[in-house]
Amino acid sequence: MTASLVSNEKLAALGRLSAVIAHEINNPLETAQNALYLALGSEDTAEANSYVEMARTELDRITAITRQTLRVNKKSNKPTRVGSDDLLRGLILIYEDKASRHRVRIQPDLGESIHFVCYEGEIRQVLNNLVGNAIDAMPDGGKLAIRVRKATLWHTGRPGIRITVSDNGVGMSADTLTRLFSAFFTTKGIDGTGLGLWISKQIVEKHGGLLLLRSSQRAAQRGTTFSLLLPIDGDLGDHSDTGPEAE
Ligand code: ADP
Repeated sequence: MTASLVSNEKLAALGRLSAVIAHEINNPLETAQNALYLALGSEDTAEANSYVEMARTELDRITAITRQTLRVNKKSNKPTRVGSDDLLRGLILIYEDKASRHRVRIQPDLGESIHFVCYEGEIRQVLNNLVGNAIDAMPDGGKLAIRVRKATLWHTGRPGIRITVSDNGVGMSADTLTRLFSAFFTTKGIDGTGLGLWISKQIVEKHGGLLLLRSSQRAAQRGTTFSLLLPIDGDLGDHSDTGPEAE
């Protein structure tokens, strides 16, 4: 494919993405605007406060959406060689507190440290999404297993690393399974953006890797396992100006 074709495709993808984001931002923005008008016109302090609170919730949602989408578009980072041990110990440290508040026990099985080349910030973002989602899926507590092993990427035959994040949470319905990688698909209502897995999939594809999953709602094997497979010698070049692409 020629360079201009590639950039035309990127522009088209960016156009589609902008339309989706504009739509998603517009609804909470209108609600926030209306709520603030109502607050200004209200003579009752308690009522005015509740309108301001409503506006704040909607604005928080907009912030979450823009933060998620802008982060992946950052131009600054370069691929670096990272060790799986450092990466995952850092991740566990960040989630220890949230996990214990949700009565989730983290069970790490990190094996020997594996070094691989990646855009570290982006891979951290993928792992954050997987671990955050796993904890969300266990409202009554549970077990979160994180496992790291060497692997061969079966689609390229290249040596890789496999990071598995498993929970014994609620699992996914057939409908969720077909839609979970779509932008703005969420089952978490106001608490979700539905952008985490959509962005994660793009990051993993940019790295020449795979994001696979298995999920069940049946009592015997209830829960979800995500497998993140990445090449060790990530042939990434400098993609630092690659924006997210809508499907
Ligand atoms: P969000 O977390 O904001 O909803 P995501 O794109 O990260 O957005 O996830 C999309 C949906 O996929 C979630 O709303 C949830 O329904 C489902 N999902 C993701 N991970 C899990 C998991 N570990 N267990 C059950 N459902 C999950």
